[in-house]
Amino acid sequence: MVGTANNARIRQAFSVVNGIQDLGLSSNPASNAGSECGTIEFTREDVEALLSEKMRYKNKFNYKERCENMMDYIKRLRLCIKWFQELEGDYAFEHERLRNALELSEQKCAEMELALRNKEEELNLIIVELRKSFASLQEKLAKEESDKLAALDSLAREKETRLNMERSHASLSEDLGKAQEELQSANQRIASINDMYKLLQEYNSSLQHYNTKLQKDIDAAHESIKRGEKEKSAIVENLSTLRGQYKSLQEQLSTYKASQDEAMRQKDALVHEVASMRVELQQVRDDRDHQLSQVQALTAEVIKHKELAVSSEDLEARCASQSNQIRSLSDQLAAAEEKLEVSDLSALETKTEFEGQKKLINELRNHLEDAEYKLIEGEKLRKRLHNTILELKGNIRVFCRVRPLLPDDSSGSEGKLISYPTTTEALGRGIDIMQNGQKHSFSFDRVFMPDESQEDVFVEISQLVQSALDGYKVCIFAYGQTGSGKTYTMMGKPGHPDLKGLIPRSLEQIFQTRQSLLSQGWKYEMQVSMLEIYNETIRDLLSTNRDASRLENACNGKQYAIKHDASGNTHVTDLTVVDVCSTKEVSYLLDRAAHSRSVGKTQMNEQSSRSHFVFTLRISGLNESTEQQVQGILNLIDLAGSERLSKSGSTGDRLKETQAINKSLSSLSDVIFALAKKEKKEDHVPFRNSKLTYLLQPCLGGDSKTLMFVNISPEASSVGESLCSLRFAARVNACEIGTPRRQTSMRSSESRLSLG
Ligand code: ADP
Ligand code: MG
Repeated sequence: MVGTANNARIRQAFSVVNGIQDLGLSSNPASNAGSECGTIEFTREDVEALLSEKMRYKNKFNYKERCENMMDYIKRLRLCIKWFQELEGDYAFEHERLRNALELSEQKCAEMELALRNKEEELNLIIVELRKSFASLQEKLAKEESDKLAALDSLAREKETRLNMERSHASLSEDLGKAQEELQSANQRIASINDMYKLLQEYNSSLQHYNTKLQKDIDAAHESIKRGEKEKSAIVENLSTLRGQYKSLQEQLSTYKASQDEAMRQKDALVHEVASMRVELQQVRDDRDHQLSQVQALTAEVIKHKELAVSSEDLEARCASQSNQIRSLSDQLAAAEEKLEVSDLSALETKTEFEGQKKLINELRNHLEDAEYKLIEGEKLRKRLHNTILELKGNIRVFCRVRPLLPDDSSGSEGKLISYPTTTEALGRGIDIMQNGQKHSFSFDRVFMPDESQEDVFVEISQLVQSALDGYKVCIFAYGQTGSGKTYTMMGKPGHPDLKGLIPRSLEQIFQTRQSLLSQGWKYEMQVSMLEIYNETIRDLLSTNRDASRLENACNGKQYAIKHDASGNTHVTDLTVVDVCSTKEVSYLLDRAAHSRSVGKTQMNEQSSRSHFVFTLRISGLNESTEQQVQGILNLIDLAGSERLSKSGSTGDRLKETQAINKSLSSLSDVIFALAKKEKKEDHVPFRNSKLTYLLQPCLGGDSKTLMFVNISPEASSVGESLCSLRFAARVNACEIGTPRRQTSMRSSESRLSLG
């Protein structure tokens, strides 16, 4: 029942799923519905309907019917199961087939993917190429576009030109029309002209005939003309001679007229003359009488003259010889004139040469000016470099000078005691001294051997002196035992101007330089003071009332007090300060000081070697053009002898003196060593321990350029002292006092040199 009812539908459903029709059901027995057709197919609804089928009976106990129904049901169920089993087998088969197909298609798919990837790569490559070509094409396009623009431009231009052309064409065609018209008319004219030409040719031939005839006539005429000309020239000649005659006649006439006039005038003049002659005649008559008397006198004279005539003959002879001379002289003159001409020529040459030389000289002059300028610049640079070097060095420089043996010296073995190493690094800087067979070596900034002159020494310090003019404090002192040459080095030998020492030489140089700096706008004022420190008291060597001041000084300790101001300048109260402006003035002052010292020497027991001599030059410079101001100080000091107390064996006054000297010198060394040791600024430097060190405080205290001469005597007896001096000097040399400072400023208000 069910099966039949749904048959068509099921068929349809399964055909959709399977795509096949025979499911082996055809062999199976048909259902009870009587449709024997073996192909029974089920749907889910069929199965569910089959499973939920319930038997209903009229008679519950009709077992047969029930059994039959059950059997039928069972049959149908079996059919259904079988169908299902077959269907399942089909499904499995189908599943297998599909899986194979799937695998196949997967393989294909993989291959396809590979192929695709390859294709993609190829395509990518192609794309890249295409892009490139695209870019190039774009470029080309751009070019083409620009070309196109250009072409358009040219097109426009061409259009314009074409328009122009057309216009000109039109005008030309107009012209052409006109020209053609003209041509026609011209042709007509040509035709008429041709006609005329023919006529003219005829006329011409007739003319030619006529011409030949005329030619003959002309020849005849020419001959007649020639004849006529000959006649004419003859006539002209006649005419000119006639004219000449006429002219001369006229001239004669005019001269006659003139002479007639003249004669008339002469006649008048003669009438006058006759009158005047008459008057004159009278006068002449008077004269005659007068002259007759003179004639008498003259006859006397004539006699005299005859005598003279004889001598005049002589003179004539002489005259002749002189005229000969004159002739020869005129010959010479001619020769000289020739020479003159020649020399004129050469003068011209020399003139041109001269001009050339003039030019050359001018060029050379310019060169010279350049060179001078460079020289000045170089000098400035050198000065700056020198100052920089000294500033960088910063320590007290020491020069050692050994004096030669003097005739008075005990003849010693100087050569053996003192020697000078000759190695390149120690040459001119080293000194060796022997004591008790032991050699002591020293080296300084410079060692002057006995044979080196005052000039040699000065050359070495001249730069230092110069820097006082640049605004530095410069301090040079001489140290050494008495008789070692300190005074000789500083002052020189009295009465020997060529042996003058550092002080006069320095001053000469300063005044010279001052003069040469004038051209750069520098004006300097200089002041000199000179003092002596003896037994710890200051003496003013330039004081005019010496004795009075000494007395005062003795009783009044306040005089000559040393004071330092904030800017590092030193001032000694009541000290004579003299303005100077020439070397002469300074040498006069030096003489005065020397005199003052030597007076002291007799009165005060050889005070000079027992005292310190301090020469001070204060320099104040102002540059008007740059408004720059400098203040320099030059201190030149001749110290007292440095010999030790034991050696002099002094007593009494002499002992006191020596103690004072020793005190000041030892405080000098104390100060120097304290400076050398000084690491911190606040460390004490005992400047105040002696007048000398207190006076020199600004020079020793750091911002000045300080140089010490250590003077050595070559005597054998002085070796001990010499060694002491050299040791002291070596320690001084190692002592750094700091960098020198230049004292310059810009001009502010009124400024005056400070007095110390
Ligand atoms: P100090 O001042 O140190 O006591 P001096 O300058 O008076 O010594 O010199 C002592 C002597 O030696 C003087 O007669 C001086 O002329 C002489 N003298 C010094 N140095 C030299 C020298 N370099 N050349 C020649 N003579 C010298
Ligand atoms: Mg001396």
